[in-house]
Amino acid sequence: MSTIETDRFRQMLLEERARVQHAIDNLHSENPGSLIDETGELTSSSIDNHLGDMATETFDREMGYTLEDNAEAVLTAIDAALRRIDDGTYGTCQRCGKPIAPERLEALPYAELCIDCKRESER
Ligand SMILES: [Zn+2]
Repeated sequence: MSTIETDRFRQMLLEERARVQHAIDNLHSENPGSLIDETGELTSSSIDNHLGDMATETFDREMGYTLEDNAEAVLTAIDAALRRIDDGTYGTCQRCGKPIAPERLEALPYAELCIDCKRESER
């Protein structure tokens, strides 16, 4: 029913999932040095934009928790996206039901909202 290449997005989601899981494992093993590199990409497409200015900050314990919360939120979002691929609703906005722009899914394969609803929800 859709022109979205779900196989490819599934692959992207699984890779992202492994990467986020790895980042969480790093947090748990208290290895923040590699963590920042690990998640540098994550922050740019993260659900939680407040992490965006973290890159230049000194990594401390409190931020570790923030990042962990965020990583687990991403993990949850990825799992939800994988379920949507399975039930055929992947790429559909969870709020207005319109298709999510493919370029948005490219940047954020676990996006739940179209860009309009996303902006709306951030107001
Ligand atoms: Zn929408």
